[in-house]
Amino acid sequence: ALAGCLGGLIIGFLMLRNFNAPLSRLIKLIEEVGAGRLPEIRCGPSHDEIGYLTNCFSKMVTRLREQQDEVKRAQTQLELEATTDSLTGFYNRRYLYNLFPKIRSEAIRSDKNQTLIIVDIDHFKKVNDQFGHPTGDRVLLHFARVLRENCRVSDFLFRLGGEEFLVLTSGDNEGGMHVAEKIRTALEHDTYSDGERSIPVTASFGVAQAENADGVDGLSRMMQRADQALYSAKRSGRNRVVIWCPKRDIA
Ligand code: GH3
Ligand code: MG
Ligand code: MG
Repeated sequence: ALAGCLGGLIIGFLMLRNFNAPLSRLIKLIEEVGAGRLPEIRCGPSHDEIGYLTNCFSKMVTRLREQQDEVKRAQTQLELEATTDSLTGFYNRRYLYNLFPKIRSEAIRSDKNQTLIIVDIDHFKKVNDQFGHPTGDRVLLHFARVLRENCRVSDFLFRLGGEEFLVLTSGDNEGGMHVAEKIRTALEHDTYSDGERSIPVTASFGVAQAENADGVDGLSRMMQRADQALYSAKRSGRNRVVIWCPKRDIA
């Protein structure tokens, strides 16, 4: 009778252990998911309820992980669309307003300056009128490539809209002038050509460095000055670079 009792106890203990271990594993997994993690769960044999439940839970977590990945991919795509221009891949105007305060405050901390270059293609309407909008788009892409190839890797490039672009570069007017002249001359030498025709394109540039009063919120003022310089470049014959100076502000 004692041996029978002992045997029963041992069998009971073993059964309880077989039941307890998978159950504690499942509880731990549920706690992990509750804490916001989605762990990889190995499926095991499902010859009892706990095994079956663990496998169902594993499939559910896998599905959740796949959905989470899909959401992340969609979010990345949305962010890309919200911050860049679909034709050229350059940053858009909205992103310029987001980015500028960060770059400016970093530059102020490390005692560096910033310069804006606004670039506008000359007589671009004529390109569309003469060759059609799709060719105009290809000319824009060509222009964007020349712009990118002639800027430094540390420069930020934006398409403000239409045929107007902006380069945010570190340094002062002199550095900005150098970058702008490099782009301008590159454009003169690198004519758009699609096998059927060549379309020469030039651009005008307005350069304005950050002044002492231009803090992290100085973008609009800087853009106004660069725009005035650009207007002056257009007025004085196009295909040129003009640096903003206070005299022009009064004119
Ligand atoms: P200016 O030298 O004074 O700048 O003359 P412009 O002809 O370049 O300037 P205007 O502002 O009169 O014309 C800009 C043209 O750019 C008009 C518009 O049709 C064209 N444009 C704007 N965005 C796009 C675009 O995404 N694709 C194409 N193909 N054309 C565009
Ligand atoms: Mg133009
Ligand atoms: Mg324009």
